[in-house]
Amino acid sequence: MSTPKLRAELDGIPTYKPGRPPAADADGPAFKLSSNENPYPPLPGVLEAAVAAAAEFNRYPDLACSALTEELAKRFEVPTAHVATGTGSVGVAQQLVQSTSGPGDEVVYAWRSFEAYPIITRISGARAVQVPLDADERHDLDAMADAITGRTRLIFVCNPNNPTGTVVRRAALERFLDRVPADVLVVLDEAYREFGTDPEVPDGIDLYRERPNVAVLRTFSKAYGLAGLRVGFAVAHEPVAAALRKTAVPFGVSQLGQDAAVASLRAEPALLERVAALVAERTRVVEALAGQGWTVPETQANFVWLRLGERTADFAVACERAGTTVRPFAGEGVRITIGETPANDLLLAAAESFRKAL
Ligand code: PMP
Repeated sequence: MSTPKLRAELDGIPTYKPGRPPAADADGPAFKLSSNENPYPPLPGVLEAAVAAAAEFNRYPDLACSALTEELAKRFEVPTAHVATGTGSVGVAQQLVQSTSGPGDEVVYAWRSFEAYPIITRISGARAVQVPLDADERHDLDAMADAITGRTRLIFVCNPNNPTGTVVRRAALERFLDRVPADVLVVLDEAYREFGTDPEVPDGIDLYRERPNVAVLRTFSKAYGLAGLRVGFAVAHEPVAAALRKTAVPFGVSQLGQDAAVASLRAEPALLERVAALVAERTRVVEALAGQGWTVPETQANFVWLRLGERTADFAVACERAGTTVRPFAGEGVRITIGETPANDLLLAAAESFRKAL
């Protein structure tokens, strides 16, 4: 029996793998440290805004996300026409690839990095050009610039990088951007920017202001804690921002998401407190792991990376047994989200036992 013909580009593209949920059979409490989520409940006023919006979900949402767009434009001091919202920043990332790259084109990014990059690149029919991270788990910007060809249409720079947490700093990024042709779009994916404390890491919005070929991706999923509501956005010049409005799924961002995002932006003091608490936990976890003898790359995100190689799967199983589910990348390493203090304590105990048994 014949089957519907599907595009050949889809052959071999993996489906996106979400982080595993907390173990159902753990002896004690179980925590999820596998998806870089925020452990805190919604910021003050956010649940109320979402519940109020829910009362009208028989209606379509505001297609243009007007209130959210205006709030973002004001906050970043950019024209509203330069703000484009979407279903999570992964949705906007896919729109950026669709807007720039098709068969015969190339999309350049570091590897390992965010696992959606190869998927959305290959779906568009473009070729993925993966440039290995350097020995310190950082973007190798010189090698990425060397990888640019006449077919390159888009370059992702994930800053901080998922899953390693490492950053590119201002001078190196500006040197890199100087080498990128003006007709190649550079997407600065700053999903974890709010957790950064290093003043040498540039704000992508500053770079966008000076360079028409730079777009910045941000999300409400991480620091703002709205992962389940799917709201992300880009700040980009025309004609990129206009292309994002064409490639958006109509009504993709729900009214719950839009109103919750606006309320989250207005809850800045509580946001900063939570981010500070998570950053303090990050410091504690990194120092404790280093004290146990692990090599931990410097992280500016809400997660840490352990390059475990062939011991990756065993480590993930040991963590899960201890009640903390982490994110293994088979044969490479484990990404551990910074969670609530008891979750981090369980993780540290599991890591210590694993280390002692080596
Ligand atoms: N970019 C990076 C680097 C990420 O790690 C993630 C989430 N894993 C995203 C984008 C997408 O997040 P969201 O779609 O929830 O905004």
